[in-house]
Amino acid sequence: MKVRHILGISGGKDSAALAIYMKDKYPDLKIEYYNSDTGCELEETEILIDRLESYLGGITRLRAAAGSTEPTPFEHFLKACGNFLPSPQARWCTQKMKLQEMEKFVGDEPAISYVGIRGDEERDGYISTKPNIQAIFPFRRNIWSLDVINLFFNKENISKVVEIYRNVCPDIHDLDEAIRILETPLTKKFYYSKKLNALLDLDVKVFNKAVFEFLKTTSLPVGQLDKFPLVDNDDIIIKDDVFSILENSGVGVPGYYKPIEFEVDGQIGTYNRSRSGCYFCFFQQKIEWVWLYEQHRDLYMKAMEFEKDGYTWNQSESLAELCRPERIRQIKLEAIRKQQAQKKQGDGTLLSQIDDNDEILCMNCFI
Ligand code: SF4
Repeated sequence: MKVRHILGISGGKDSAALAIYMKDKYPDLKIEYYNSDTGCELEETEILIDRLESYLGGITRLRAAAGSTEPTPFEHFLKACGNFLPSPQARWCTQKMKLQEMEKFVGDEPAISYVGIRGDEERDGYISTKPNIQAIFPFRRNIWSLDVINLFFNKENISKVVEIYRNVCPDIHDLDEAIRILETPLTKKFYYSKKLNALLDLDVKVFNKAVFEFLKTTSLPVGQLDKFPLVDNDDIIIKDDVFSILENSGVGVPGYYKPIEFEVDGQIGTYNRSRSGCYFCFFQQKIEWVWLYEQHRDLYMKAMEFEKDGYTWNQSESLAELCRPERIRQIKLEAIRKQQAQKKQGDGTLLSQIDDNDEILCMNCFI
């Protein structure tokens, strides 16, 4: 059966870098790149996606609510929701504008979805909600998702996995050690990640080969392939590498990351947008709202217009309150204070100011 290879371009730096990396490193993989267009992205994001499209040779644009008379998919669904704004607790926006479209795009065919979680992130990783989609993380030392690792270490599969290791492990000493690790029961002290890291420390490529052989005994998409070149991948791509990939390819870093200086009471700070996503995204920090107000006033005003019937983007204050001069001054001073504290810790660089809030795991919006 044909297995599709897909890669979602969110407009963020990590998925953009992953797309470039995959195209350059695995030119024979027929990867389908796609982007979910909300109609509410920043101009800088659109520029990045257009440049990527030229580099990659094509990106399928998915757009929800096709045929709607509303100007954007967001406005279509907002109307349908009775002006109820999305929030971290009621995140209908991602569901309706991105996830549903992605699931329609993939359909029921087996598909491998490449996800740009980096090697320097602590996230466990996304597990697909559809059984026919399997996530792979090429930037991490462990390219496999948690559900695959759980299956691989399941005690009912140990004898099968040991047998596979005997066939794929060329070094007899490594084999003895691998079998010892595999047969050591999971406990509170020797938990999944310890067991996983012990095997990866031994040999990443052998581990990957073993998992690939094991997957052939399951119905998961990777197991349906004759060969999977990523088993030989032991790269670990971290944040600095992502920026290098973007710069070296000529695609460049998304413009919204560029720090812009501001001054309050003789003190200098910088602001920028830390993530991709809709211009009104409720995950942005207060200083990013100020950035939007001062750098994209029209978009701030549009976001403000959506605040009606008591619904606001921020729980604590409305956008009309947030853009009062005294409040902007306060937010900027707070940002300067944080940046100075970061600088004291030797961490005031552009890269460190780009926030990667690990709690907000969403490959569809921010990766
Ligand atoms: S970027 Fe923010 S507002 Fe837009 S879909 Fe994602 S979570 Fe919702």
